[in-house]
Amino acid sequence: MTSKSKQSECVKVVVRCRPLNQKEIQENHESVVEMDLKLGQVLVKNPKSASEPTKSFTFDAIYNWNSTQSDIFEETFLTLLESVLNGFNGTIFAYGQTGTGKTFTMEGVRSDPDLRGAIPRSFEHIYKHIARTVDQQFLVRASYLEIYQEEVRDLLSKDQTKRLELKERPDTGVYVKDLLSFVTKSVKEIEHVMNVGNQNRSVGSTNMNEHSSRSHAIFVITIECSEDGVDGKNHIRVGKLNLVDLAGSERQAKSGATGKRLKEATKINLSLAALGNVISSLVDGKGHIPYRDSKLTRLLQDSLGGNAKTVMVANIGPASYNYDETLTTLRYANRAK
Ligand code: ADP
Ligand code: MG
Repeated sequence: MTSKSKQSECVKVVVRCRPLNQKEIQENHESVVEMDLKLGQVLVKNPKSASEPTKSFTFDAIYNWNSTQSDIFEETFLTLLESVLNGFNGTIFAYGQTGTGKTFTMEGVRSDPDLRGAIPRSFEHIYKHIARTVDQQFLVRASYLEIYQEEVRDLLSKDQTKRLELKERPDTGVYVKDLLSFVTKSVKEIEHVMNVGNQNRSVGSTNMNEHSSRSHAIFVITIECSEDGVDGKNHIRVGKLNLVDLAGSERQAKSGATGKRLKEATKINLSLAALGNVISSLVDGKGHIPYRDSKLTRLLQDSLGGNAKTVMVANIGPASYNYDETLTTLRYANRAK
């Protein structure tokens, strides 16, 4: 097997299109996205030019407005989660313009069992797996951090003004110095960890929507599994699952942005571009993977490439006024696959 086909098996890029929302329906917005589920194709037509041919993109899987949280979990996330339970690392990213469903995909509506997203479903799956496994012991730990302006903040820390450093050790690689992690023994306990982090995330941000559109949130679950081998010795495997709700991919710097806003915008675009470069280098089987170009890719280095599995969900909206951003997202995702 060539390195290209081997790596591409480890990286999956899927597209998910949300339905038109109430407001868009009321205002009679036209949908410019069609999805051919059989061919795995997304078709987009330019609302400003009827004569322009429809653009088509093909992905590993696509999810339209009728797809459920359960569909995407069972078909796309579960294999990755199973491999984490077997001691490998894995990362799920939600990418896309603000308002297209990144948080819906990762977190969903936690109070509604049908609408729960990747994170709460992973919690349930992990503890179910542990409960039915008799010959192995598990230790689950959770961390929750945020990257904002290329600065790392521990969302579980009491001191939310502290910024964490990335360090590197020859034996274990890149790690976040002083990042807290909590041992959790049940779905309830790990959900509590998530609640604490979410509360801290909103603290200090006057507008949560704006803040989340400018920062990456990473929920990390480390699963240690020990069992007695045939050699009579105890063996430990460690798998790590990173669940990443990325900053909004929209062009952040509106023309005329200056000073702090412009600097902020440039940093977000840089880190998303760096992620795109890492993923496409992995898929292309290139020797040099540019992990060092952003905090995000450095931090996730041990979970991108190698034996790790990656799923990138590119979220899009169907309405005509999102046409430009939708096309940009599809191009980004297409390059990553
Ligand atoms: P983002 O995190 O990308 O900014 P959200 O996840 O907050 O976007 O989604 C924006 C709105 O659209 C929310 O009200 C969310 O519930 C809704 N939404 C997103 N995706 C879907 C979907 N697939 N089905 C139904 N509603 C969705
Ligand atoms: Mg969001």
